[in-house]
Amino acid sequence: MRIVLLGAPGTGKGTQGKFITEKYNIPKISTGDILRESIYSKDGIGKKIQKIVQEGKLVPDRIVCNLIRKRIQKKDCGNGFLLDGFPRTIEQAYYLETNKTNIDCAIEFIVPYQLILERISGRRIHMQSGRIYHIKFYPPKTKDKDDITGEPLIIRKDDQIESVKKRLKEYKIMTYPVIKYYKNKKRLGKLKFFKIDATDSSLIIKKKIDIILKNNFIL
Ligand code: ADP
Ligand code: AMP
Repeated sequence: MRIVLLGAPGTGKGTQGKFITEKYNIPKISTGDILRESIYSKDGIGKKIQKIVQEGKLVPDRIVCNLIRKRIQKKDCGNGFLLDGFPRTIEQAYYLETNKTNIDCAIEFIVPYQLILERISGRRIHMQSGRIYHIKFYPPKTKDKDDITGEPLIIRKDDQIESVKKRLKEYKIMTYPVIKYYKNKKRLGKLKFFKIDATDSSLIIKKKIDIILKNNFIL
């Protein structure tokens, strides 16, 4: 089972991705998480891309495709995986296809602009684990502390308003063609494509996704 979550930044892909991967026992692969880890640990790639990510621009296809290639070769991907934040450009989508990594299911998250801004402005993350919180919608048990480790939560540097605006623009220009591409594949019967209203609470969205996956796939 290979699932792709599509949707603008802040629509809840990471939050739902976690539920899906826990339920179906497949790894969640978030290129954003992998890149943030690289930046945090200041490794070779991290130093190169820090500025790009903070400014809300897209990291070059060559770098992210390479990261994905290495990640999906790992043993835990044998039964499938969930991609969160990849592919984000048509070249990245072609990369999967040319490497015979066919996708079974794409789910597009739809949330209006104002709500996206509200979600992103309150987002807090636990850097080490990628756990996601929100100061109003999903607050941690103790303010600014991770529920499991008690370590501090951070505000992503690219969650500043200027960066967010840039990311939303990039999404429209670079990622809309990916959505078109998967919709076309749906017409050809090559994958299942679902569009969901992701403005509800995360529990309701989780239920919607559960129904989609149960009704369409033998899991
Ligand atoms: P994405 O991975 O698409 O960027 P996230 O999963 O990180 O989005 O969610 C963005 C922010 O919105 C986070 O702070 C998260 O806690 C919050 N969030 C996610 N889903 C919902 C929801 N259904 N309702 C309210 N807030 C949500
Ligand atoms: P995300 O955590 O998915 O919101 O991604 C955070 C940032 O990482 C993005 O704004 C980009 O700068 C970079 N990034 C993540 N995934 C990709 C990708 N597939 N292609 C290019 N850049 C990416």
